[in-house]
Amino acid sequence: MADAGTGDKRLVKSKSGLRIVNMRDDVSSPFLIPEPNWVPDNEYGHCMQCQGRFALMNRRHHCRRCGRLFCSRCCENKVALPRMCFVDPVRMCGNCAKVTKGENEFFEKHLKVLLNGSEFHVCDDLDSEVSDNSVTFFCRLSSDHRFLHFESDTEVRESLMLDKVDNIQTLTPGVDPQGNTIGTGMAVTYESENGQLLMRFVVQTSNRKQGMNWITAMQKAARFLYERRNQSRLRS
Ligand SMILES: [Zn+2]
Ligand SMILES: [Zn+2]
Repeated sequence: MADAGTGDKRLVKSKSGLRIVNMRDDVSSPFLIPEPNWVPDNEYGHCMQCQGRFALMNRRHHCRRCGRLFCSRCCENKVALPRMCFVDPVRMCGNCAKVTKGENEFFEKHLKVLLNGSEFHVCDDLDSEVSDNSVTFFCRLSSDHRFLHFESDTEVRESLMLDKVDNIQTLTPGVDPQGNTIGTGMAVTYESENGQLLMRFVVQTSNRKQGMNWITAMQKAARFLYERRNQSRLRS
């Protein structure tokens, strides 16, 4: 299963199974979600999906993702849940299994692309055009998934914390000589000490495919970031 960040890890046993988590909560990946509270056994006498009554031969099971109560037939999927750091696949209701399988593509595929990084012209919104002498950085996600690092032999650029990202948009696509629409990069809006700022990542013609793959992966990551942001807004 995908690495959920480096650093010191500990093994935690929860009622849903074994989890491998960071020693410190404050350095955990922004793509993770907490375990749900389980609906108490005695709160429902029937399955919350098919309404079938629980009995000795029709026992209750908790979905490990939403914590609701189901009969075994409505909660029979066992799916890997990297967002909760489970070592093994865990039991899930049909709806959660569907959502999770969709998300797991990110952990199996896109996360690796982000960690491997790609080269971009990076400029701030003040630069209207990307000129030949604009700075090229190798951009990659940190191993704990909390930062975007910018690497260059000549220039220094501060890492961007993913929690500060407000919005990610594909830059207006261009058109290639055959008339096909092509992406040209992405614009990231983020919170800074000086208010909201915008940074542009422009793909290079020399490695367009790798660059656009990285941007596609960032957009998948952005869904998790928006979700996290909305939830923290709801809590506050
Ligand atoms: Zn059921
Ligand atoms: Zn569920």
